[in-house]
Amino acid sequence: MQKEKYERPLIQKMNAGLMNKFGTRTEYEPVKHIDNVPVKEIIKKYGSPVFVISERTIRRTYQQALRAFRTRYPKVQFAWSYKTNYINAVCNIFHQEGSWAEVVSGFEYRKALGNGVPGNKILFNGPEKTNEELELAVANDSLIHIDHFDELYQLIELTDKMPRKPRVAIRVNMDTGIYPIWDRFGFNYENGTAWNALTKIVASGKLELTGLHCHIGTYMLSANAYAVAVNKLCDLAHNCKSQLNTVIKYIDMGGGFPSSNTLRGAYLPASDTNPSLDEFAEAICSTLLQQGFKQDELPLLMLESGRALIDDAGYLLGSVLANKRLSDGRRATIMDFGVNLLFTAFWYEHKISPAQDFTHHTEDMVLYGPLCMNIDMVRETINLPLLNRGDHVVVHRVGAYNMTQWMQFIQMRPNVVLIDEKGETHLLREAETLAYIEQLEKMPVHLKEFNL
Ligand SMILES: *Cc1c(COP(=O)(O)O)cnc(C)c1O
Repeated sequence: MQKEKYERPLIQKMNAGLMNKFGTRTEYEPVKHIDNVPVKEIIKKYGSPVFVISERTIRRTYQQALRAFRTRYPKVQFAWSYKTNYINAVCNIFHQEGSWAEVVSGFEYRKALGNGVPGNKILFNGPEKTNEELELAVANDSLIHIDHFDELYQLIELTDKMPRKPRVAIRVNMDTGIYPIWDRFGFNYENGTAWNALTKIVASGKLELTGLHCHIGTYMLSANAYAVAVNKLCDLAHNCKSQLNTVIKYIDMGGGFPSSNTLRGAYLPASDTNPSLDEFAEAICSTLLQQGFKQDELPLLMLESGRALIDDAGYLLGSVLANKRLSDGRRATIMDFGVNLLFTAFWYEHKISPAQDFTHHTEDMVLYGPLCMNIDMVRETINLPLLNRGDHVVVHRVGAYNMTQWMQFIQMRPNVVLIDEKGETHLLREAETLAYIEQLEKMPVHLKEFNL
């Protein structure tokens, strides 16, 4: 008997509910403007794909965040997390709003100096700081956040040559009830390593212990985790005062507040599930105020929020290159942007809107990018109105991490454009050129020529 042919089972979604004569209703509205500037005009002038940043949204988001904390606690200072988006103009918007700089490498440190941030308003984080970078940071009186014992000894050794006592904090990691614990950065609280580091710093007599730092994770969905972290940092601060005779001037709670992007696979949209910045501010400030600090010894509350302050202000505009049917019948739409520009597509389900009117037919489809590489999938399945070649789309909330983690791979990086508060557009970063990409390459003489 001949064996029956196997066919892969297929699960199809049943669309229950009322259908109109045009098919299922879509929640989509075309997004034709960003801050009143027509998407079509931006693409015509700056090409496709193109990143667009809204100055108004950055300022508004920042002011709301500052208000959430300042109305609950008297001494608050934000420091802009450079790695989240270090386009200089973006950094300068935050600096104009009063934000200091938070950097995690010598490269970012020099960028902040280059933007004109005074050295004593730069927080220098991260596990890698060379001798030269530490010397530069100390010469500029920056706040050095020590990550590990080797760095502590490195700094102590360097102080002999230094013009002033370095101002330092340590990064502390701890169990906040969120797992896995981010324990690869800084000194652990529970096992006593953090306390050990603090005693060494003070005993050395060569460093000025100024602050305590933590950054407990990213896209944190629990405000309570921050309350736990405040308690643990303040416990250290009290011990510094009582046992080491050192008053801690600031408590830095890092960043990690979520943006309104929805995580991949989430059942509900982020707007329904994520705590608001006010809830985080409430947890942090209330806990801080309950620690029994004397009014004149209340530590400055430092915050290094990245993602939550910039994600909403960034858009990626792109165009449809082609449509095709995959072998299993699914519709696939190929866009002119992929994971090379949208690194966050690996963990977010970005909201994507057509930028022109459409009929109300929709279909579940795969969204691919233009790379000749299988990983280049912007979305495995998304229900969108049918898009035609040449149509434009707007990807929302891409301001965080995409303009720093973008890859120059197969395609070059596109223009980045700012819409200012008056609705004028400004080019912030030019689209890359072949000459730009190749300018650092060298060709050995014996490889210059060939005959084919
Ligand atoms: C990345 C980073 C931040 C910003 O984190 P978000 O999750 O974007 O808020 C802040 N502090 C440190 C030390 C960081 O490494």
